[in-house]
Amino acid sequence: MIELRGVSKTVQSGDRPLTILHPLDLVIPSGRFLAVAGPSGSGKSTLLGLIAGLDAPTAGEILIDGTDITKLGEDALAKLRGEQIGFVFQFFHLVPSLTAFENILVPMEIAARRDGVARARRLLDEVGLSDRGHHYPSQLSGGEQQRIAIARALANDPLIVLADEPTGNLDSTTGRHIMQLLLDVHRARQSTLVLVTHDAELASLADFRLSLRDGRPVDAAPHHSDARGPTKAEALR
Ligand code: ADP
Ligand code: MG
Repeated sequence: MIELRGVSKTVQSGDRPLTILHPLDLVIPSGRFLAVAGPSGSGKSTLLGLIAGLDAPTAGEILIDGTDITKLGEDALAKLRGEQIGFVFQFFHLVPSLTAFENILVPMEIAARRDGVARARRLLDEVGLSDRGHHYPSQLSGGEQQRIAIARALANDPLIVLADEPTGNLDSTTGRHIMQLLLDVHRARQSTLVLVTHDAELASLADFRLSLRDGRPVDAAPHHSDARGPTKAEALR
């Protein structure tokens, strides 16, 4: 289970503080699918980065299966991220100097998995690119790069997959294939999926939906002038 308690993020903007995520309470039960929507700049990537431990909140607790990740040191956080969380970025973020196969292998080498090579082959196969392992990212189309990025995100069989507008830079047909792949993986592995998407149809398939605007949930209860009022994803069903 992922649980956010009063999680907020304030950054320095010029000479004054700017709150880009207002205190948010959120519960995502294990194995479920949360779709996050909202206009550009509403805090979606900030939220995902916080859940992934890529960024630290200004206040609040982020519990992953009961562990408050905001209290973890850098090494423990990197280990948790590497082994339990798969992140799919809008711009793929593959390592350009490594082949597709090597990109998938990296997280398994860091985790010192012995079965890395065999597993990377299986993952390549799973995303339908077994014949492209020796290609460099620059030799692959956007859709192919994103499929490699998904295979990499799945390398250590993470319990949590976070995907930030993963089809934002793909044509619609390729985008549908990528989404299908993410949904298939989520269902087959029963991993928790948090997906930032503008696709209402796709969001309708989610167990829960969260819509952000200016760093606040839009669907919050009417009395949400209490900034600490809970916005449990369950309540947004
Ligand atoms: P979204 O993903 O919904 O488009 P983001 O989470 O990327 O939104 O950003 C939310 C807001 O916070 C934006 O206005 C963005 O410019 C701002 N922002 C994000 N990170 C920083 C930062 N490190 N410093 C200053 N402003 C930031
Ligand atoms: Mg974003």
